[in-house]
Amino acid sequence: MDEYDIAIIGGGPAGIMAAIAASRTSSNVILLEKNPSLGRKLLLTGGGRCNITNDKPIKQLLTFFNNKNFLKHSFFTFTNEDLYSLFDLEFMTEENNRVFPKSGKSGDILKGLCDKLDGVSITYNFEVKSIKPGFVINDKLKAEKVIIATGGVTYPQTGCSLDNYKLTSQPLTDIKYGLAPLLTERDLSGIAGVTLHDVVISYKKHRVQGNVLFSHVGLTGPGIINLSNEISESISYNLLEDDPEIDLEIAIDLCPELTREELHQKFNRDFQSKGKTKLKNYLKLYLTNSFIDYFLDEISIDGETQLSNVNRKSRNRLVENLKRFAFKITGFNDKLAKVTVGGVDLKYVNPKTMESTLTPGLYFAGEVLDVHGPTGGYNLKIAFSTGYLAGLSASGKAV
Ligand SMILES: Cc1cc2nc3c(=O)[nH]c(=O)nc-3n(C[C@H](O)[C@H](O)[C@H](O)COP(=O)(O)OP(=O)(O)OC[C@H]3O[C@@H](n4cnc5c(N)ncnc54)[C@H](O)[C@@H]3O)c2cc1C
Repeated sequence: MDEYDIAIIGGGPAGIMAAIAASRTSSNVILLEKNPSLGRKLLLTGGGRCNITNDKPIKQLLTFFNNKNFLKHSFFTFTNEDLYSLFDLEFMTEENNRVFPKSGKSGDILKGLCDKLDGVSITYNFEVKSIKPGFVINDKLKAEKVIIATGGVTYPQTGCSLDNYKLTSQPLTDIKYGLAPLLTERDLSGIAGVTLHDVVISYKKHRVQGNVLFSHVGLTGPGIINLSNEISESISYNLLEDDPEIDLEIAIDLCPELTREELHQKFNRDFQSKGKTKLKNYLKLYLTNSFIDYFLDEISIDGETQLSNVNRKSRNRLVENLKRFAFKITGFNDKLAKVTVGGVDLKYVNPKTMESTLTPGLYFAGEVLDVHGPTGGYNLKIAFSTGYLAGLSASGKAV
């Protein structure tokens, strides 16, 4: 049976980074990947452009994660500067501190990482199905230490699977969808493709500001995607046991810059002074043009009505719906969920090393852990930093 110092399971960004770090001091590292190539999901990131990280200062960055205290040490151990230095590439920062390679190609990131795997044995088409005591893998090879970096549950075509959680032999928190478009029963075909810019979307006490994009089946866009994490966290289900049952309401504040009172005051003034203007034209001051007909239809107000003829009841309904346009949500679009909420319970993982506190010699990195962030480079940041720390620790070099 072949023996290795360190076996890393999963060749996504976390596993590759763990292998890079481990191979700096250990010459006997193996990376096991079930696909015929590494980094399938990485290639899809950022719409194929790879939003590789987020360049907010670390302390500020940490506030965006569900388990910031756990991530702190890994973020300070492996910084964005350390990440950029691995590549012979230039990077650019876009809106909201999102960092992309200037070439606009996720393939360049994958290639840059793979170029650093010189000292690592890689076995492709190797699906780990069992890890027996003494770290005997699939009864075929043995390792002194093992790093599990098998990812989460989303986009199964890239290699992820619920089955992988069994491999961890660790306590798990509930496994849920994250960063997912939301499904609704409303017929949105008339406004598919329309974007509402910078609206405020709320679910119970959670509020997220961002864009909402309508699709044929529901709502998506960065604002919705980020709110979906909050929704997933606050409802109870576990994909290891059941699918989520969803019947809830979210509300969109279409005019977040004005209060209800300010809207009433404006309408009182304008509905007199611009009395001859048709309502649907007047609303262009507040709403995306291509959304107005749909909006007025939904609240049963005729857009052809002149402002002076809009009665008080309709005016109140207008203000109420501009401030709180509600959608019934019936599910997550699981095929497009981007991350997993939940995973290996952090209570049993040492944040200074990524080693299990239950099984010495067993380490975790990336999405398999119960850590996730919003869209914007936050999730690859987790994969790279925890991957690096796990590799460093397994090779005995953690600081
Ligand atoms: C469409 C999409 C776009 C995204 N865009 C971004 C973005 O721009 N920025 C960002 O920060 N995040 C983005 N994310 C999230 C990000 O891709 C993930 O958080 C990240 O890939 C997690 O890395 P990982 O290495 O932990 O897991 P993965 O990337 O999922 O890698 C896990 C690897 O393990 C292998 N594996 C699994 N089980 C086994 C097994 N039993 N034996 C052997 N190998 C196994 C898999 O084949 C896979 O190669 C996106 C996600 C998706 C789906």
